[in-house]
Amino acid sequence: MRWAELAVVLALAGAGATAPPAAAAKVGDVPILTYHRVGSSQGFARQVAALQRRGYRAVTLGRVWRSWRGEGTLPWRPVVLTFDDGYLSQYRTAAQPLRDRSWPGVLNLQVDRLGVAGGLTRAQVRRMLADGWELGSHTLSHPDLTAVGPERLRRELVGSRDAIQREFGVTTDFFCFPYGRSDAAAKAAVRAAGYLGATTTHRGVASRGGDPFELPRISVSPRTSPAALLRRLRAAARG
Ligand SMILES: [Zn+2]
Repeated sequence: MRWAELAVVLALAGAGATAPPAAAAKVGDVPILTYHRVGSSQGFARQVAALQRRGYRAVTLGRVWRSWRGEGTLPWRPVVLTFDDGYLSQYRTAAQPLRDRSWPGVLNLQVDRLGVAGGLTRAQVRRMLADGWELGSHTLSHPDLTAVGPERLRRELVGSRDAIQREFGVTTDFFCFPYGRSDAAAKAAVRAAGYLGATTTHRGVASRGGDPFELPRISVSPRTSPAALLRRLRAAARG
């Protein structure tokens, strides 16, 4: 029995016991999934179908951010699907199942991967934007930002944002740390470059009260079974 059904039964029985189950997400909690290459189209489509059946609806980080500030609402079970680096398979495999549901993805683009073998073409990125995808910056060249000097740090953060604006006419409000590596200097530089927040590889569920420059995510491979994916979401919600 699903919780919603259980709640109805309890209400009908006059039990009035509406304490949420231990794994219930707090309002404003949003799991952010991390994908890299999406080689198995069947696996990915099955995951998306399972999320939809379970009541999840994909949203952008921008929408999450605005809801945290009281601007706009989130669906009952929001989820963000982020795709790192910019691989051709992210267009070939992931774009269609998301398009079928009018679900946005978030493409964390490494700018110098654009147009190279195995990467996305500009036309593909434009099509994803037309589908409602959000574009995040993942630097120009994917260095470990804790290991570069201040000048390179600024170039990777500001230069990638400028390049995406120039190429696609969109502002990138969110940044994704290469390798999930960040420190105080890198976080300060991300903020100074004008980003509203940043995603990491720390495991967990993003929440309204958390550090927006250290948004945790849940790593997923297209080979993850739908059941394992849903288990991972429940485990992350428990913290
Ligand atoms: Zn990356």
